[in-house]
Amino acid sequence: MKAFRRFERSERAARLAEVPIPVPGQGEVLLKVSYCGICGSDLHAWLNHKGYESVLPEVTFGHELAGIVTEVGQGISAWSCGDKAVMIALQTKYDAEDPYCRKDLPQLSERRRVQGLHLDGGMAEFVCVDEEFLIPVPEDISLPLASLTEPLSVAEHCIGNRSDITRGTKVVVSGPGIIGMLCALAAKHRGAEVLLVGTERDEAVRLRAARKLGFQTVTVGAGLPPLSENVLEHFPLGADALVEASGAASALADSWKSVRPNGVVTAVALYSRPIELDLTQFLRKQIDLRTSYASSRPDYLNAFEMLRNGAVDFDSLIRIYPLKDAEQGFVDSEQLKVMKAVLDCSGEGPELT
Ligand SMILES: [Zn+2]
Repeated sequence: MKAFRRFERSERAARLAEVPIPVPGQGEVLLKVSYCGICGSDLHAWLNHKGYESVLPEVTFGHELAGIVTEVGQGISAWSCGDKAVMIALQTKYDAEDPYCRKDLPQLSERRRVQGLHLDGGMAEFVCVDEEFLIPVPEDISLPLASLTEPLSVAEHCIGNRSDITRGTKVVVSGPGIIGMLCALAAKHRGAEVLLVGTERDEAVRLRAARKLGFQTVTVGAGLPPLSENVLEHFPLGADALVEASGAASALADSWKSVRPNGVVTAVALYSRPIELDLTQFLRKQIDLRTSYASSRPDYLNAFEMLRNGAVDFDSLIRIYPLKDAEQGFVDSEQLKVMKAVLDCSGEGPELT
């Protein structure tokens, strides 16, 4: 089968390779992959960025996948051929002794691993997955749309569990990449008022897509008014919540200026270097500074609810590339030419419904 694989630990060292179809072992299921998204973390791994040293030197990328069961291994009774499934990307085998498993936060366990970085993933025609990390796709969600479940679950965890966002909450989302955009959609889905912020680099694709989805947007950068001025125009008392999804150090450092006293700032991005924060400014406004990391099964199920309610406009967000053009998908993602690249691994062309 064809697989988009990293072949050594260096920058851009991945290519389409011919590898054997994996054989499902005890408790595993073989999926024929339909669609697999290219994630920011795939880009970091592909570019061999700092902080991604744990990625295997040789591995098939891809953790945002939806596919169809084609074979089951020994001991599988819950799955049969033809079933549609998505994979839980960040995987921790359940252990009742593990406090994070008991709290539905397995993504915080030290035993976690990411399929697609630490074992072979889904940018391939087939992938073997431990049944513990599979979730059935509801009948009314198409497979291309289902490939968004994983990134949407990350947004769901951030908005639903870590940001105190409900109906009428005034929210600023900083960074209109796919996670920021999905956070904005998850907040809107809860009835929040959302302002999306980007830089001039984001203008051509991301902020345009945001406006197409009905969001008010703000562009910040050199020579432009600071974000806080814009925010106060929209929300005169300041934002109730700010979600930092850009990964820009200054966006997090200045976030307190846009948030009202007793508000919440949640960082959902990864930062490439330590950040200097004037914590006293946060303290004087008693701003709750939080982080949100990855997601777990309940967030995937909430993501399904959003997908089936039409809360995510697939066509405005996604560009589909055939698996053979995976590298182009990575390059276009790196250059911000696309909001979100998704690989069609089915070899049949997109079946958008
Ligand atoms: Zn991802």
